[in-house]
Amino acid sequence: MAFSPADAPAAPLLRARADIPPRFKWNLTHIFPDWTAWEAAYRELETRIAAYAALQGTLATGAASLLAAMRLSDDIGQLTYKVWYFASLMYDEDQRDNGINARRQQVQILFAKASQASAWFNPELLTIPLAEVQAWMAANADLAVYRFAIEDLYRQQEHVLDDKGEHLLSLSSRFSSSPHDAYAALSTADLKHPTITLSGGAETVLTYGQYRAILATNRNQADRAAAFEAYHRLFASNVNTYASLYNAVLQRDWFHASARDYKTTLDGALHGDNIPTAVVENLIATTKAGVEPLRRYHRLRKQALGVERYHTYDSTIPLVEFDRKYPYEQVLDWLPASVAPLGGDYQRQLHDVLFGDWIDVYENPGKRSGAYSAPVYGVHPYMLLNYNDTLDAVFTLAHEMGHSMHTLLSNAHQPFVYSAYTIFVAEVPSTLSEALFLEYMLERATDPRERIVLLQHAIDGIVGTFYTQVLFADYELQAHRLVEAGQPVTADTLGAIYFDLLQAYYGDSLDYDELSRVTWARIPHFYSTPYYVYQYATCFASSAQLMRQLTMGPAADRTAAIDRYLTLLKSGGSDHPMSLLQRAGVDLSKPEAVRAVVDQLDTLVTQLGDALASLT
Ligand SMILES: [Zn+2]
Repeated sequence: MAFSPADAPAAPLLRARADIPPRFKWNLTHIFPDWTAWEAAYRELETRIAAYAALQGTLATGAASLLAAMRLSDDIGQLTYKVWYFASLMYDEDQRDNGINARRQQVQILFAKASQASAWFNPELLTIPLAEVQAWMAANADLAVYRFAIEDLYRQQEHVLDDKGEHLLSLSSRFSSSPHDAYAALSTADLKHPTITLSGGAETVLTYGQYRAILATNRNQADRAAAFEAYHRLFASNVNTYASLYNAVLQRDWFHASARDYKTTLDGALHGDNIPTAVVENLIATTKAGVEPLRRYHRLRKQALGVERYHTYDSTIPLVEFDRKYPYEQVLDWLPASVAPLGGDYQRQLHDVLFGDWIDVYENPGKRSGAYSAPVYGVHPYMLLNYNDTLDAVFTLAHEMGHSMHTLLSNAHQPFVYSAYTIFVAEVPSTLSEALFLEYMLERATDPRERIVLLQHAIDGIVGTFYTQVLFADYELQAHRLVEAGQPVTADTLGAIYFDLLQAYYGDSLDYDELSRVTWARIPHFYSTPYYVYQYATCFASSAQLMRQLTMGPAADRTAAIDRYLTLLKSGGSDHPMSLLQRAGVDLSKPEAVRAVVDQLDTLVTQLGDALASLT
């Protein structure tokens, strides 16, 4: 169903929340009817947390005690989702509301209490031999539900030290965030943003947001060059300080990995999700062998933009001007149609998500910016959008819809303990949902300029989410290997790693600027969450291979692929992510998935070349 255009409100108008029709707002009474019910649940949660603390010392008595602890932990977890999200989602409707903010913080304080009240569980369980617990599970079907969760705790135990060692490591955590804190201060609080003069004579204070905006919208190459130069000089002028902070990150990671007896920092980083290091090594090697479509894209851009020299700062400017609006009501029809390759059941469930008052669509004063999908276990997923009729907004909706469908299916098919999924699989359904939507839109775009905009959107997505993240992972791995090998880490060595990587990926498709050497210094992930970004790339590769299986080949193969994909979504976090993906038909330790991305980019660049040629 769709609403008639006359009924459709104009999205870009910023309206008071009360003036937005209810069908464009989420209905939080699905969680609790009112704050009184919330208060009652909050008190219930407090009571159960205290009851959990009282179970300390009981586990060794047998299966019944362990089962009681697991079940009470599940009850607390389920109630926590509702109590937290009711306050948190309400707060995001209007973050100026101090009363709701106070309630939200009240829940955060309770979280801290809950984590103290449950700190005894893991150490106490692990004093019981695994074989004994396995015998309990073999004899007790209710306890056997928790088999994967329990066995994984024992697996993680391999690298846990004795009490003295753990105590020493916990003391070191007091300063382990210092390099990142110092980086954050140096790159934001203490940064003196330069003022640059643009070609029209306007003066601009160059914040990061301004820098990005100039690169994405300013059609004068000299202005983009000036912005790039001024922004990177900021980092170049402090590059030795950044290098010393990053060296501290590397040394800290190697200290922790060595202390816990991991062979390398990468082994330590991947152990939690039980990912083999071959996954990262294969990701990097196969991507490096597949850079030709990336270079071809930039050569095509150079030609289309008509510039004599083509630099990194020319890589995001749109190839054509096209500002079609995409009203929300239209997308309500398109989105269910775009997932037809996933079958009728999936389509119907997606329809329920769209029309169930689960989505907060439009912006209003005080509303949280951005977009997310919130998994409220026991209720349903909610989605926050700031929909503004742009193409980006449409793809954001498709993306968050992928997360919401994952949550819906996982929650419907898994016991609470396995309902949440790890980041390693989380971005698979969201990127797949975007890819299906792109196919749908490309098939229907009649204006060649719209095709170009769609293709550039998809290609920039692959470059940003895949190639750039693999390059970053490559950089992190090489930098960490320096300290593992006892080599010195200086601004020069780090700059050389980064610059060599740029050349290895972009080859002759770019004109290089010396200042690009310092780009590593400004990437926040390198300081905050080492070895994290590769997961965006592996999710993207998984999704590309699944997309191929779902949409190509004989009908029987596609039907089987749909079944495997839906099983993946229904599996939540019930196994290690590599095993879940393998059952869905993706083996990330082999080159095929990464090659699927390379092929996908190759096809899109060819289509873009054709679309550009059709303009002239
Ligand atoms: Zn996402």
